[in-house]
Amino acid sequence: MVGNPFASLLEPLFARVRAQDLWRRREIRTSPQTPVIQVGDKTLLSFASNDYLGLANDPAVVEAMCAGARRYGAGAGASHLLGGHTSAHHELEDALAAFTGAPRALLFSTGYMANLALLTTLCPRHGRVFEDRRNHASLLDAASLAHARRQRYRDVEGLRAALAAAGPGGLIVSDGVFSMDGDMACVPTLLALAKAQGAGLILDDAHAFGVVGPGGRGTPAAHGLNYDPALIHMGTLGKAFGVFGAFVAADGDVIEALIQRARPYIYTTALPPALAASAKVALDLVIAGDERRAALFDRVLRFREGAVALGLRLLPSSTPIQAVVFGEAARAIAASSHLRDRGLYVPAIRPPTVPQGSARLRVALSAAHGAGDVDRLLDALASLPGGPA
Ligand SMILES: *Cc1c(COP(=O)(O)O)cnc(C)c1O
Repeated sequence: MVGNPFASLLEPLFARVRAQDLWRRREIRTSPQTPVIQVGDKTLLSFASNDYLGLANDPAVVEAMCAGARRYGAGAGASHLLGGHTSAHHELEDALAAFTGAPRALLFSTGYMANLALLTTLCPRHGRVFEDRRNHASLLDAASLAHARRQRYRDVEGLRAALAAAGPGGLIVSDGVFSMDGDMACVPTLLALAKAQGAGLILDDAHAFGVVGPGGRGTPAAHGLNYDPALIHMGTLGKAFGVFGAFVAADGDVIEALIQRARPYIYTTALPPALAASAKVALDLVIAGDERRAALFDRVLRFREGAVALGLRLLPSSTPIQAVVFGEAARAIAASSHLRDRGLYVPAIRPPTVPQGSARLRVALSAAHGAGDVDRLLDALASLPGGPA
């Protein structure tokens, strides 16, 4: 058969993915992103979402989206520079600047695009970018798109050595909370190294905003830091904020440079204004969210104490992301399917997403989980065939 022109390209690709046991499939959820979800004909207690504060299905956030759609319509209809920028976007930007303490904030459609925008705008061609080896894929891709000279560091000592060898300037780029391990970057050290080097620090706080630091202001605030012009603070609105979108909070000139030059900002449709209106209400709830955060950290502690008592191997993490390490991929997958059989959804994360020998269950906790939900998870972990650890 003359056939499909893609076949010769795709068949080896599929064979490779299957041979590595990495074939992925999507499951169809028919309910909101609450702790108890409906997937096909199954009802599952989920520990997989990034909805750390339970805002994705909050009535006020949902209603703000409906009201926003009634006022502005369904879509923005244009890019920000060509008529798509509304008062809903602008008010949210002002509120995010005030929230982070930075002079200005700029909205992006996604965190992925915000990261592409930052590195392609702020890093000259062949400029030096120092990235934590555990950084999110979008930060690694951003350095490629920027044609940067990217160096990945393993720890602060590795970064120090790379900086010393490179000489002044460059950009240090790090997740604030690492998405697969749950620990926080040591932001004061990164910032001090950046300033000593005359470099900038880009901090991706996707998993931190709303969760860590006073008022949920992120990892710099969690370390007692205020706004610093050397820091570019990026966050998303699709995790603890429960909505969709992303932002960069920074020095006014950095924001202006993004507006003037960043292709992932300029050449794309503005977020639907209704999303911005909804995210503004979510931000108000984040700011007033001490009770939600107290509930969340109560669940985190309850899980850690219970898991330690079972002899499970936990990575050090004080955030809602808790990694239970099993080592071999097959053991993590067996644990995930054992939990699944008991009505619990806890994904297994395998190499290459995490290093060889560190396959794990990734437990994500939410303020919307009850103490009883955590106990159900612990009971199911206690019943793993061959023992929990
Ligand atoms: C989720 C995430 C992103 C991407 O954000 P989206 O808005 O989902 O595109 C970027 N960086 C980190 C660290 C993330 O966890």
